[in-house]
Amino acid sequence: MSDLTRLTLAEARDGLSARKFSAVELNQSFIDAVARANSLNVYLVETPEKALAQAKASDERIARGEAGPLEGIPLGVKDLYATEGVQTTAASHILEGFIPQYESTVTANLWRDGATMLGKLNLDEFAMGSSNETSYFGPAISPWRRQGADGKVSDAKIVPGGSSGGSAAAVAARLCLGATATDTGGSIRQPAAFTGTVGIKPTYGRCSRFGIVAFASSLDQAGPIARTVRDTAILLRSMAGHDPKDTTSVDAPVPDYEKSVGASVKGKVIGIPKEYRLDGLSAEIAALWDRGVEWLKAAGAEIREISLPHTRHALPAYYIVAPAEASSNLARYDGVRYGLRKTGKDIVDLYELTRAEGFGKEVRRRIMIGTYVLSAGYYDAYYLRAQKIRTLIKRDFDLAYQAGVDAILTPATPSPAFALGEKGSADPVEMYLNDVFTVTVNMAGLPGLVVPGGLSSDGLPLGLQLIGRPFEEETLFALGQAIEEAAPKIGLPEAWWA
Ligand code: GLN
Repeated sequence: MSDLTRLTLAEARDGLSARKFSAVELNQSFIDAVARANSLNVYLVETPEKALAQAKASDERIARGEAGPLEGIPLGVKDLYATEGVQTTAASHILEGFIPQYESTVTANLWRDGATMLGKLNLDEFAMGSSNETSYFGPAISPWRRQGADGKVSDAKIVPGGSSGGSAAAVAARLCLGATATDTGGSIRQPAAFTGTVGIKPTYGRCSRFGIVAFASSLDQAGPIARTVRDTAILLRSMAGHDPKDTTSVDAPVPDYEKSVGASVKGKVIGIPKEYRLDGLSAEIAALWDRGVEWLKAAGAEIREISLPHTRHALPAYYIVAPAEASSNLARYDGVRYGLRKTGKDIVDLYELTRAEGFGKEVRRRIMIGTYVLSAGYYDAYYLRAQKIRTLIKRDFDLAYQAGVDAILTPATPSPAFALGEKGSADPVEMYLNDVFTVTVNMAGLPGLVVPGGLSSDGLPLGLQLIGRPFEEETLFALGQAIEEAAPKIGLPEAWWA
């Protein structure tokens, strides 16, 4: 049998229903691939027995003609999603050994539809980061490597982006057919861009946040990473939907997103925000963006320059709002209720020792920034102002959409992926700058899709971002497919790690 890990999710689904192979065979291929890929440090926990048991049940349902939409499809789960009976750590020492007694709604939806679980995927600690380097369990490594014009491949280890670095690297390295991820400021879209995969952050409220470790609750949203636009559309349909356990999840029907893949984009109005043409934007990223414009034009879309005047305030405002909410959400890790506990001379000592040892440097930094901007003397100057900026950013988008724009096209990231240790060690702001094109979308609660647009001059993937109207993910899938068809095929990375 040919290598089943090379199939897309849609191809695997169709192959299973045509009985070309069994769900057990498909899952075994991925289990074997995962076992050979330890050097990528992508899976924090592997659950092959669980996947095989689920696959066996899938084969039985397929035989009875009762297959669900994801029957037998092996997936990876970002280790921010609570999985019943399987360790869930958020890649933090403070949650090491925590075994949830319940399942997140999004993963429960996937299993309901027949998907199988290969294991839990690495991420930045508590989803704070853009490179996966803040994980307590060491960084996940991208399967991509730099390649010069002379064809010489560099040995330097490349980051997969973050925080959903394990999810993106696993999908790119063919260690699952798709993965769950989350996005608070770009954590689905930036890793997708860095690894040549497709990721969508749906509209805030589209997916339930129940059972997902909270970072910044007003920004957090679940979404899929997969290898094609069609595959992400298939996954999102299963993940999305109303959940009484999350009052911010929206009670609206979930469309069959796959139907939008390949739909015409003729006459769609695409906004090109002039403020995203940052000073010093690299020529390579500018050229990628121009190509994206040409591809959509050729597909029949109409291009319009727009202005989103408050863009430049988004990043500083995000790095106030997100830490503020994080400092409150992370107060629950006290050494009493879950995970790590360091006993001290009294209860205060226990809290302090546990939190000092349990949280990594970046998480401690966020907690300190968050408590500072919320403290009595500084609340108005920082937190309140950031919230006002957030409203203005949302209004910028509202005005563009009211003027007839259907979607907005931007680069996904200001650069291709970088090497391990190359950024942010001296100055954290250098790392935060990765999020310059993605945080606006979270601040406004909008959907954003990232699709590969080609390779950089050093042979690494580059991504384009499409931003949509609230709850109009379908438009993004149609436009994303048009880009996927027009863009040069970047292929899959060579399996140097296996
Ligand atoms: N890189 C951003 C941060 O560190 C975004 C993280 C995310 O979306 N979870 O806050």
